[in-house]
Amino acid sequence: MLKQRTLQSLTKAVGVGLHSGQRVELTLRPAQPDTGIVFRRVDLPLPVDIPISAVAVTDTRLASTISNAGAKVFTVEHLMSACAGLGLDNLYIDITAEEVPILDGSASSFVFLLQSAGIVEQNAPKRFIRVTQPVEVREGDGANVKWARLDPHHGYKLSFEIDFHHPAVDSTGQRVVFDMDTGNYVRDIARARTFGFTRDVEMMRANGLALGGGLDNAIVMDDYKVLNSDGLRYDDEFVKHKILDAMGDLYLIGKPLLAAYSAFRSGHAMNNKLLRELLSRPDAYEVVTFEDARKAPPGLAQLAPAW
Ligand SMILES: [Zn+2]
Repeated sequence: MLKQRTLQSLTKAVGVGLHSGQRVELTLRPAQPDTGIVFRRVDLPLPVDIPISAVAVTDTRLASTISNAGAKVFTVEHLMSACAGLGLDNLYIDITAEEVPILDGSASSFVFLLQSAGIVEQNAPKRFIRVTQPVEVREGDGANVKWARLDPHHGYKLSFEIDFHHPAVDSTGQRVVFDMDTGNYVRDIARARTFGFTRDVEMMRANGLALGGGLDNAIVMDDYKVLNSDGLRYDDEFVKHKILDAMGDLYLIGKPLLAAYSAFRSGHAMNNKLLRELLSRPDAYEVVTFEDARKAPPGLAQLAPAW
């Protein structure tokens, strides 16, 4: 049987929120089988649990925000991406403010934390959402078109294309395909950082956003070039970060997908719209388990061996 996974022990991290600039403490704790991933706002007078789900996503303007009973957590996507990449099913995430810390702007610090705590299998079958019919969402047309879709696939594969016109981005790859069967999330995707432009950052700061952002946790560009003195971590770091974000956004459905995701200029809002479209079509998916782990796609069955 292909089993669910959780952490072996708890682990903590302290950082600042990208937008709020607020100091925040995270405690990642093991959870029982079938708990799923649950954020808990422990700073509120009465702690509020926010289980991840496609419909818990309430704001996607700059990051993916989830809510429950009036409590929110902003910028969950990089941590969710690490959970997706390591195949974690059950986890409590205690948080002392309303935004997940940005750490280094990628998922690699979360990967390190989760792997350091150890990942263990649990005695319950791992449940996947298998896409059985193509599902697509699309907006705009001509030069403004953007779309995202899921197709049936025995495994998990993502293909993303960006279309930025900027001297620092034009020269890098604008399209990436990442296949969990043949690629390695920790090596190939997790280190890609979020990115932004100085002119946007100035505008965002004037509006009380991006207060925790800087060269330590983002690729920052002016109108011509990358300003970080150590350059890029991957030649195609920009589009790889979009794959990282998409993996986090899609994991908010609450179970790993068996599907091929492809997208052109998609973002947090469209990724969530795609999940809602899928869930509105019961003919387009089914929940499956693997009694025989050898029948599961190898990239999803052999994830992150327990340390
Ligand atoms: Zn991101």
